[in-house]
Amino acid sequence: MLPEIKIIKTENPKAKPTDESTLGFGKTFSDHMFMIEYDEGQGWHDARIVPYGPIPLYPAAPVLHYAQEIFEGLKAYRRTDGNGIQLFRPEENAKRMNNSAERMCMPTLDVDYQVAAMKALVKVEEEWVPHRPGTSLYLRPTMIATGNELGVHPSKHYLYYIICAPSGAYYKNGMAPVRIRIEDRYVRAVRGGIGACKTGGNYAASLKAGAEAAKDGFDQVLWLDGRENRYVQEVGAMNMMFVIDGKLMTAPIEDCILPGITRKSIMQLAADKGMIVEERPIDIAEIFEAYEKGTLTEAFGTGTAAVISPVGEMCYKDRSMKLSGGKIGPVAQAMYDTLVGIQTGAVEDPYNWTTPV
Ligand SMILES: *Cc1c(COP(=O)(O)O)cnc(C)c1O
Repeated sequence: MLPEIKIIKTENPKAKPTDESTLGFGKTFSDHMFMIEYDEGQGWHDARIVPYGPIPLYPAAPVLHYAQEIFEGLKAYRRTDGNGIQLFRPEENAKRMNNSAERMCMPTLDVDYQVAAMKALVKVEEEWVPHRPGTSLYLRPTMIATGNELGVHPSKHYLYYIICAPSGAYYKNGMAPVRIRIEDRYVRAVRGGIGACKTGGNYAASLKAGAEAAKDGFDQVLWLDGRENRYVQEVGAMNMMFVIDGKLMTAPIEDCILPGITRKSIMQLAADKGMIVEERPIDIAEIFEAYEKGTLTEAFGTGTAAVISPVGEMCYKDRSMKLSGGKIGPVAQAMYDTLVGIQTGAVEDPYNWTTPV
């Protein structure tokens, strides 16, 4: 039996941001957080929603040394018709959390229970869901290995928590296409590794390539496979899609690519709009070939933060591809409009992807 969620409200609520146009991402947090603890032999216990604040950890906590840590990211949206607040496919995030847990030798937590915890927390933080178009309340479920032992083995103690950050509109001045470096030295994931998990180590390992790319004027890095440096994987915290000959193409997940929920949703939307969707290994040489033939018409990243991020330029070594005349392409625009419409209740949701809070 999973524990009931106790609610202890803060006596010092913070002032909500008054100017929602300057919210940004992940800089302000709401008043409360959800927490539940796990101990071997006892299972999950002590579920609670408590005031947001620091968490006590032993300096020897395994998460701090061996990065036994996983997380998720999803958003609560205020419906544009005023009919309340809804989450987008939260059970997919809960399932992915459990898949990451499995790979990182961490305990799983019942999917329905995770979704119930998200809903309970958003209910308490209702007033923290911003109103301005394009804004949302970002939820960050996280699990860390706690305890007080330095041995290299799976911990016997864990903390699962959810924090909330009101988030600004990703695009303030219309959709700005990004400039991407196709990375030819560093790699993100290798077969048999942890590329398909949302786990801290993947991001720590990516920082150097990202920083070097930023120094050279790029917004993001497109990763190639770790064995041959040849097949497209993904960008930053987004999956990658190409439109070639009118077909939507993306790389297969296998165990190197994060199985994005936005990716999966867009693949379905595209197929239902009558597009051919191809999920297969994509050689970077094939992208250049299509570009030269003029059949590569769009490239874009997909992920919860931006939904869609159109690519204006991709550079590989000394070669460059310029796309869509520096604007968002028609496929990216159509996918964006439909998906954001469903997320905010402006477009009917025939898929049952949204869950009212
Ligand atoms: C979270 C994430 C994505 C996108 O997943 P969504 O579920 O669409 O938000 C893609 N790649 C990486 C590496 C990620 O961390």
